[in-house]
Amino acid sequence: MNISRNDNRLYQALTLPNGLRVLLVADSDSQKAAAALTVNAGHFDDPWHRQGLAHFVEHLLFLGTEKYPESGEFHDFISRHGGSSNAWTGTEHSCYYFDITKQFFQPALERFSQLFIAPLFNDGEIEKERNAIDAEFKLKIKDDGRRIYQAHKETVNPKHPFAKFSVGSLDTLSDAHGPIKQELETFFAEHYQAQWMTLVLCGPYTLAQLKGWAEHLFADINSNTTAKPEIAEPLYRAQDLGLELHIEPHKHLQKLIISFAMPSIDKFYKHKTVSFLAHLLGYEGEGSLHSLLKNQGWINALSAGGGINGSNFKDFNISLALTDDGIEYYQDIVEMVFAYIALIRQNIAQLHALYRDKQTLLQIAFDNQEKARLLDWVSGLSVNMHHYPSEHYLNGDYLMAGYEPQQFAKVLDWLSPKNMRLVLIHPGVSSSKTTQWYNTPYYTKALEPQWLDALAAIDTPLGTMSLPEVNPYLQRPCVLHELESPSATPEKLASHPGFNFWFKQDATYRVAKGHFYLAIDSHLAVKDVQHMALTRLFADLFIDCVAEQFYPAELAGLNYHLSSHQGGLTLHTAGLSSSQLELAQGLLDALFNADICAKRYAEYKKQLVRHWQSSNQNKPVSEIFSRIGAEIMPWNPTPEALAQALKSTSYLQFKQFRQEFFAAVHIEAFLHGNWRPADAYDFLRLIQTHLEQRANIEAINRPLAEITSVIQQQLSLPSNDHAMVIYYQATTHDFEEKVLMMVINHLLNQPYFNALRTEQQLGYLVGAGYAPFNSRAGLAFYVQSPNVSGKELLEHHNQFISQYCQQAAQMDEQTWEHSKQSLYRQIAEKDKNLRLRSQRFWLAISNPGVDFTLQANLLNTLENIEFEQVLQYLNELFAPQRPRMEWLSDPQGSTQAQT
Ligand SMILES: [Zn+2]
Repeated sequence: MNISRNDNRLYQALTLPNGLRVLLVADSDSQKAAAALTVNAGHFDDPWHRQGLAHFVEHLLFLGTEKYPESGEFHDFISRHGGSSNAWTGTEHSCYYFDITKQFFQPALERFSQLFIAPLFNDGEIEKERNAIDAEFKLKIKDDGRRIYQAHKETVNPKHPFAKFSVGSLDTLSDAHGPIKQELETFFAEHYQAQWMTLVLCGPYTLAQLKGWAEHLFADINSNTTAKPEIAEPLYRAQDLGLELHIEPHKHLQKLIISFAMPSIDKFYKHKTVSFLAHLLGYEGEGSLHSLLKNQGWINALSAGGGINGSNFKDFNISLALTDDGIEYYQDIVEMVFAYIALIRQNIAQLHALYRDKQTLLQIAFDNQEKARLLDWVSGLSVNMHHYPSEHYLNGDYLMAGYEPQQFAKVLDWLSPKNMRLVLIHPGVSSSKTTQWYNTPYYTKALEPQWLDALAAIDTPLGTMSLPEVNPYLQRPCVLHELESPSATPEKLASHPGFNFWFKQDATYRVAKGHFYLAIDSHLAVKDVQHMALTRLFADLFIDCVAEQFYPAELAGLNYHLSSHQGGLTLHTAGLSSSQLELAQGLLDALFNADICAKRYAEYKKQLVRHWQSSNQNKPVSEIFSRIGAEIMPWNPTPEALAQALKSTSYLQFKQFRQEFFAAVHIEAFLHGNWRPADAYDFLRLIQTHLEQRANIEAINRPLAEITSVIQQQLSLPSNDHAMVIYYQATTHDFEEKVLMMVINHLLNQPYFNALRTEQQLGYLVGAGYAPFNSRAGLAFYVQSPNVSGKELLEHHNQFISQYCQQAAQMDEQTWEHSKQSLYRQIAEKDKNLRLRSQRFWLAISNPGVDFTLQANLLNTLENIEFEQVLQYLNELFAPQRPRMEWLSDPQGSTQAQT
């Protein structure tokens, strides 16, 4: 197996006698263990009369097995022991995964393996879970992703399984079409076969231990010798190509997708022929398709290579975010795309150097991989095992075996006009035709044959078009530096009024990478709502303005971002440490000097105002959270207020704002990663040269509104759902209160979910969470429901709380200690990678008081907390007059009584 140079885990691949392919990963550093199982069965396998069945099976497997019949048992066991679990159903695969504190891996695996051996499909659970599926469907009924997807499904070959509805609803899963229980059992028996499954086990054990569990616990999964049947129908028939499809979005969206039909591209994985083509078309530097179209004022963004794919199809999409003008000129855009394809075609023989760049890049990425969240990593691996042979399980995504011009030419041939569909997503599609399930207005029309012929005849690029240059950011060697300054926490390298520069060399993760943060506070950023809006607009415009210049850096694995915070702007660069100084230098120059023209100003202002104005079409729970956030953090106004303020702002005002913003500033900078002290001084000098002329100000402290009474609000939002959000703010900044809120959240969130979501079926979005605002602790409860009014949700909530308080008083010592330990482990968890570590340090630096010991203090406090204190706090917190926010919302026009 091919393993990354900074990966110290041990691997073993094996196949059990029943055909189950297993990958064992011994990771001695890990505090947690995790497992994932992916089966080659998904919604494509749904019977035509039972759409949503695969998804329904996925939900029901968690709700009781012969050995562990109780429905919440698996989830409870996992969450009681510091873990989490989930699953998804895709087109051709379904994936199940969990993680857990290492001591409990074996009993968790015993439970997990039973899901695939003997699930119960209990009648009562079927009845209840149908509602959960229906709520999941309704939750996304206005989601443009789903709405557009459905229009896509209705315009392909209706015999291809892609045309099926994947989620399921009360209607498709009802017993009216015959008892579903039997169909669930049949589906499971037919598709949950060991030879179609892959399993990953990872944890701090020996390979022999892991192997023993795999063999012992998963051997009883059913199997036979059948191969998975291939899909016989093509995704598109001739009449499904050469057409344009117009779709009306729910939110404001203007998009053109030029989509080319390809067969399956799995066999190209070793050479990445298709992704190399996507790289050329998606390039954003000078002379690129992106650059030309943007300079015409037709597009705001372009990406290439995305699109649905499966075992017998692949859509190769060029997706363009259009301006208002772009909508008018979409045919000219398509012509320019074909002119650029002609440029690539002319150069097929000379692409070796560009291929090598991309190859170097993937190799660097593979060698410098950072540990991802264990759960995501194991589930991703179990999916990769379906696509790659065992020697490439780990590096299949990174392989580029060499440039093959002939293969490349063949792939390029698929980008032909007769093989094309144009998808136009824009407001004002007046069509009486709407999709099933989501009611998306859409229509199709055939493209003119003469135009298709004209496109096919384009064989010359425009003179202004050029291919990418060899990447300057990839020319320096990536060296891992020996540790010269081994401090545990960041240290100040320079400090004077209005200025701090922090540095920490870090070799913990053995990656040649680093992070650079620069926060610039200015009083102008928070002068009033208009200036707060301008700060955000400036951040967006800046990124837009420099995107082309720094695109090669991005390709070379360097990221950068300018974002607004309460009080100013933060510049953040990340990625390879070897050439990050050049990037930072270029960005700082641009920050003060780059020219932002009136045209881009007008375009971005329009977009941002639209974006803010449509925010009340978000899920009601998110909308309420955003409004609560605005109340508590006055420098974080609601989107409506920002839109209102920005609408009447002129370009001249923007230019003045930009000039004055940097006149007097406070600077906080932090450099962290694979750099020696000498490198850090280079960064320091760079910042100092740029800031010499400017006046210093004190750091700006973010204001926080205190909740001092019970604040009730009743809203009407443009959504079909009802919602409830309750927010408790800590009354102090003390560690003790922080920890008590964490404890209560930890004790209560699983029972809350079980009661309101699983038992009472109030809705799909249900939860409790620890939610601090401006570093003041807080606790939130939320429910979003398709059919229960806000007022009733509140009653259910109150009922739960009062029952819970009574039960809590009876909790025994052991349960309490257990729960305390599991929270302790959660807080004590070490940073998994450099990025998370940088984030944690940066958070400490950018908060008042700069405290690197937050984690230690929380743990200390937690250790000394007695259960008596928790009970006392619980009663105080849920007392009737305890200050809090209680926000309810019901659909607009509904007849709910106002409270
Ligand atoms: Zn689901």
